[in-house]
Amino acid sequence: MAKDFSDWFYHTTAWKKTRAAYIKHAGGYCERCRKEVEAGTRSLADMKPIVIVHHKEHLTPENINDPGVSLSFDNLEGLCEDHHNKEHKEKNKKRYRFDKNGRPVPT
Ligand SMILES: [Zn+2]
Ligand SMILES: [Zn+2]
Repeated sequence: MAKDFSDWFYHTTAWKKTRAAYIKHAGGYCERCRKEVEAGTRSLADMKPIVIVHHKEHLTPENINDPGVSLSFDNLEGLCEDHHNKEHKEKNKKRYRFDKNGRPVPT
């Protein structure tokens, strides 16, 4: 993967500390797996640990320096790999580009 604007951020002590504290706070298990277990659609044995702490409001070059977005527990969600992939795929599906006349173009 090409070097991303956010690469440096994931190497900061502030992020590493926030990430570790958040995983502890969330109880160590993927929050969506846990909801599925609660809803009865997933078995307890199939609950996955958190591998990715996801930003609900995705990081952008504009908000990455705002700790209220980048380091706020309110903006974080602990996810397993599957649920994280799903989250980003679903977001991508809904995303449209606009042509120069302002009409949405499916990507
Ligand atoms: Zn999960
Ligand atoms: Zn994410």
